[in-house]
Amino acid sequence: MRLVIVGNGPGGVELAKDLSEEFEVTIVEKENLPHYSKPMLSHYIAGFLPEERLFPYSLDWYEKKGITLLLGAEAKLVDRLRRVLVTSAGEVPYDVLVIATGARAREPSIPGREHILTLRTLSDARLIKERLEKEGEITILGGGFIALELAGNLAKAGYTVRLVHRRKTLLGLDDELSGRIKEALEGAGVEFHLETNALGADGEGLKTDRGYIKGRLKVCAFGIVPNKELAVRSGIHAGRGILVDDHLRTSARDVYAIGDCAELGGVIGGTAKTAVEQAKVLARILAGKEANYVPFRSAFFKFADFGVAIIGRTKGQAQWLDEDTRVFYDGGKVSGAVVLGDMKKAFRLEKAIKEGLP
Ligand code: FAD
Repeated sequence: MRLVIVGNGPGGVELAKDLSEEFEVTIVEKENLPHYSKPMLSHYIAGFLPEERLFPYSLDWYEKKGITLLLGAEAKLVDRLRRVLVTSAGEVPYDVLVIATGARAREPSIPGREHILTLRTLSDARLIKERLEKEGEITILGGGFIALELAGNLAKAGYTVRLVHRRKTLLGLDDELSGRIKEALEGAGVEFHLETNALGADGEGLKTDRGYIKGRLKVCAFGIVPNKELAVRSGIHAGRGILVDDHLRTSARDVYAIGDCAELGGVIGGTAKTAVEQAKVLARILAGKEANYVPFRSAFFKFADFGVAIIGRTKGQAQWLDEDTRVFYDGGKVSGAVVLGDMKKAFRLEKAIKEGLP
C-alpha cells in the first residue's frame, strides 16, 4: 500500500516514522530541506544553538527508514479519480493520501507592511537573525506564544526587545495570569506596549495609536493561516482549515488531514504537540486499529526561562490552587489549568484533567 504524505513538518514526519514498516511511504515537501524544528527557531535566532541542531533527522535517517523524501516538490492537485497527487516534480500515485501542509504566518494588513518580517520557516529565521545581529534591537507584534517565545529568547540573549500587542492580556489569558507572564518577561528585559494598535510601518519604526515606536527591525508574529489551498483546489471541503472528522478523514475518500492545516470541530490545532498527537492517532487508524482523535488543548512553552503550561479550557470561573497553579471550572468540574514555572507538575495535572479530575 502506498501512503503519500504532503508536508514534512512534525505531523507528516511523525506519521511517516510510525507507518514506515506497514506502508510504502513517500513525503512530498515543497521546501528543499529535511525536517527541522520550528519551535527551536527563536533559540537559533537568539544564537543559543547552531543551525545544524534544528535538524533532528538526517537524509540518511529517511533512507534507512525506507521513506522516500521528495524535496522541492510542491503538491498542486489531488486527482481523486485516478488516485494521483499532481506535484511540480511529476505525478505521485497513492492508495492513502495525508495532507499535512501546516500553516503560514498571518501577514499584517497595514500600510508599509513591506517593512515588517514574519516568522515561520528557516529562511524567515535566517533573515531575522541577520538583521537582528546588525540592528541589535527588535519590535515584535503579537501576544501569542510565538511572539512571547521570540521576545523571551531575544531579551535573554541581550537584545533590546519591544513587544506590541493590541489586547490588554497575553495568550488570551485572564488579567492575573497574563500579569504574571508579563512580569517574568519584563524581568528578562522585554518592554511591553499593550493595548496598542499598529497603524502603519516605515523603515525606521512603527506608527501606532499610542505614538511612534522607533525600531528598524519589526517582526509580526500574530496568528496563522492554514494551508488549505491544495484541498480547496481539489474539491475537498474546507472552512478556515481542511475539515476533518474525529478519524482525521476529509470529505474525499482515502484522503486525511492532520496538523495546522486541519480543522476539527471549528478548531485549528496550531501547535507541534497537536500535530504529533493527531499523527499518532492517524497512524493507529491506518494500521487498522481502533482509535479516534479527541481534541484536548494542551501546550507547554518556555518564555526566556519561564515555563507556562496551558491545559484544557482556560476561560470562566477560576481559582489559584497554589501560587503557581490556576484551575478553571465548568459546571462544578475542573475543565482546565494554567501552570507557571514547574512543568513536571503541569504534566501530572494534564494527565489528571484528561482522565477527568472532579
Ligand atoms: P508545518 O510544520 O507547518 O509543516 C508543513 C509542511 O508542509 C511545511 O514544511 C511546508 O513547506 C509543506 N507544504 C505546505 N504546502 C505544501 C504543498 N502544497 N506541497 C508540498 N509541501 C507543502 N508548537 C509547539 O507545540 N510548541 C512551541 O513551542 C512552538 N513554537 C513555535 C515557534 C515558532 C517560531 C513557530 C513558527 C511555530 C511554533 N510552534 C510551536 C508551532 C508548530 O511549529 C506548528 O504548530 C507545527 O509545525 C505544525 O506542524 P504541521 O506538521 O501541521 O505543519
